[in-house]
Amino acid sequence: MNSREIQIGKVHIGGGLPIAVQTMCNTHTSDVEATLKQCREAAAAGCDIIRITVPSSSDVAHITKIRQTLRAEGIEIPIVADIHFSSQTALAVAPHVDKVRINPGNFHRDHAVAREKFARLIEVCKQNGTAIRIGLNHGSLGEYITNLYGNTPEAMARAAMEWLEMCLDNDFSQAVVSLKSSNTITMVEAYRTLVRMMEEAGLDYPLHVGVTEAGGGIPARMKSCAAIWTLLSEGIGDTIRVSLTEDPVNEVVVGRYLEARRSGRIVSTLRSVTVEAGKAIARYESPSLETLVLDFSCDFGKALLDKRLSDITLEGSYVADDGSVVDLAATSEGKELADELLQACRVRFYGPEYIACPGCGRTMYDLQGALAKVKERTKGLSGTVIAVMGCIVNGPGEMADADWGYVGEGKGMVSLYKGKERIRSHVPEAEAPDLLLSLIRDSQE
Ligand code: SF4
Repeated sequence: MNSREIQIGKVHIGGGLPIAVQTMCNTHTSDVEATLKQCREAAAAGCDIIRITVPSSSDVAHITKIRQTLRAEGIEIPIVADIHFSSQTALAVAPHVDKVRINPGNFHRDHAVAREKFARLIEVCKQNGTAIRIGLNHGSLGEYITNLYGNTPEAMARAAMEWLEMCLDNDFSQAVVSLKSSNTITMVEAYRTLVRMMEEAGLDYPLHVGVTEAGGGIPARMKSCAAIWTLLSEGIGDTIRVSLTEDPVNEVVVGRYLEARRSGRIVSTLRSVTVEAGKAIARYESPSLETLVLDFSCDFGKALLDKRLSDITLEGSYVADDGSVVDLAATSEGKELADELLQACRVRFYGPEYIACPGCGRTMYDLQGALAKVKERTKGLSGTVIAVMGCIVNGPGEMADADWGYVGEGKGMVSLYKGKERIRSHVPEAEAPDLLLSLIRDSQE
């Protein structure tokens, strides 16, 4: 797709420029020093654009201070304000940042009012040279659009088209759009559908690409690389975020890998591959486990997502952190990694699927610790999707793909969800993983 070039602060995206890599702070925005520290670290790691949540109008002053401090230090990284639920906050912060990200699904409860507020936001952004991201999430599409098209990739693409057309009608060129999902197939299909619709309508706004609530560790890297690389390899995507429930710098590292691969500066460590009757045998010689995971996911993600492959065997070796060479055929590790990629691409499920938000300034507990505890307690289950979300305000609305939800309430308490229904409130964190496990087991009997 040939996108137009737009400007976010001093960074240009689209128009065939290299892919811009983004991340997001997971600190409380009111903790200006901690947020500044994450911004500095992300910039030093090669992040091109950084997003900071603005949960309330009082945080407008905090994000303004953060941006001013970075500029005074000579750090020119564009600052993006992340808005949920408050069009007033979007209007207030727009003059003070380089881009505002809004989610049409929760910009305003009333669709007509949301359109009106968005037109006003466009005016404020035009006056201040601020870009806008129209950031749709599969988990939080508005009722207006799901009533028409269901909770589908088509609904995501049609919602994006409506808001892009509002940009066009208001003569606003500095917009970028994203359609994220934690389900890799849904995410890829949504972007492909949107590109078809945009081409038919003659629209060329750049695309921000990512898998949302991917979780952490190897499964999250596999989901993100398989889906993002599938799109990048088709020429879809101008800027990316690899969402990890980890330190934001880790997101930048994986994002830079994808950008370098897209630019042709790195090549895969795949040494050989044979394919017979939809089954592949891949052999790698990788300098690290991380390289192996990223290469393997990019090399085979698209064929698995598009169902051209139904199985894969991973062989070869990688160099461990202690310098020893790990032979994948000599341990169960090759099989475990292949199973993980098959699950990331939704070909076969061997254990629970975890989705987890990356955390942000709204996070109400130790999200990484909660995810680790939930995984530990529930790893023996299969055929179920468990969401671990950082806040009670947005978490429940963002976990549409989950069978079960584990959501931080704050003050050491957790809410448990079955689908979209809250079935337990105010559960002490120490008891919540066990209670979740027993509720899931009871429902499976
Ligand atoms: S669900 Fe997670 S990422 Fe989303 S607003 Fe809440 S804490 Fe932030």
